[in-house]
Amino acid sequence: MSVIRVGIIGIGAQTRENLLPSLLQIPDIHIVAACDSELERARLLRSYVKDAGNYADVGEMLDNEQLDALVMACPPQAHRDIAMQAMLRGLHVFVEKPPCFTLVELEELADMAEQQGLVTAVGLNFRFARPIQHIRSVTASHAFGRTMHVQINHYANKPRTPLWGMQSTLRSFLLAQAIHSIDLATVFGSGEIVDLYSSVQRDTESLLARIDIAFASGVSASILTGTMFPYFEFDMKVISDRSTMISLDNLWNITLHELEHATRTAGSDKRWRGAWQPSPLDSGYVRSGYLGELSGFFDAIRHQQAFEGDFASLLPTFHIIEHMCREERPTPDLQAPVFGNRPINQRVTTNAQFS
Ligand code: NAD
Repeated sequence: MSVIRVGIIGIGAQTRENLLPSLLQIPDIHIVAACDSELERARLLRSYVKDAGNYADVGEMLDNEQLDALVMACPPQAHRDIAMQAMLRGLHVFVEKPPCFTLVELEELADMAEQQGLVTAVGLNFRFARPIQHIRSVTASHAFGRTMHVQINHYANKPRTPLWGMQSTLRSFLLAQAIHSIDLATVFGSGEIVDLYSSVQRDTESLLARIDIAFASGVSASILTGTMFPYFEFDMKVISDRSTMISLDNLWNITLHELEHATRTAGSDKRWRGAWQPSPLDSGYVRSGYLGELSGFFDAIRHQQAFEGDFASLLPTFHIIEHMCREERPTPDLQAPVFGNRPINQRVTTNAQFS
């Protein structure tokens, strides 16, 4: 496939601010059409791609345009329904996080992708953010040693009310925010989950969550997160069996701590630490990971390979989310899946058993 023909669905804030500027930097793709239920938003794309078709109805766009792939940033119920419809037509799909509401829905999406032999991607840009990529390459090196523990502090102050027509603030928070840190824990854990503990403390509006995960790989991970914090902050540490530790402050500064650190200038000294920051020359979309995740998706299509952040890769993350929501009472499934935006009223499943 030389040029990949792309349709974009949902021309809201995320597409306009992050996905579209990244897509416009990627070679060998052609943005053919845009769709938004508010047609005026779809028309905005014409300012960037002159001949792009614009639609208010996804079915109409799929019928009229010859597309290879879709990129979507809508509410999750639209991601789920439109991804299903597009995959049935043989299109590769990239959906922003979250791809759907529940583990059962994600399993259905992953099964459909496998049956149809399609490339899928979920927009979890933290995985591809420049500092995280750097930590991934350092921790994969022989010199770092074997990763033993990952500690993540992911502080937030929203959402404090339910999103997307759901009833649960906890599920909304997990799907909107904590999905990034849980996904990262599973990336560094790189294996099956063998044990899981989670607790949620609440006050009237906000919540505080602790998650401890043990992986079959021997890696453990702990996450402190929630909406009880004054502002957003993201820090992480990875510790190896060689007493090497790499730490990331606020998704920016990286420090490597070793038992003994040697530099050419200062020689060998226990008090020196190695430091790293993204290059000021990296574009904002490289630093934030949006360019990396989208480029990876299109490369996977071109090389007919699975993409590392596909629907199936998110199954462990959704197992953890279901585990954390298990105390919440399932409400009846009031609405069957629909093609569009109607709320699904929290179809909670309780099938995650690890301990
Ligand atoms: P938004 O409300 O600004 O935009 C959503 C757009 O989708 C709207 O223009 C809406 O009209 C359109 N839409 C909804 N249903 C549709 C349908 N059935 N067909 C066509 N168009 C439809 O929301 P947003 O802030 O852009 O967020 C969109 C998605 O991006 C969400 O899933 C959100 O979680 C995700 N997001 C991810 C990150 C990240 O860090 N990766 C950051 C922000 C947002």
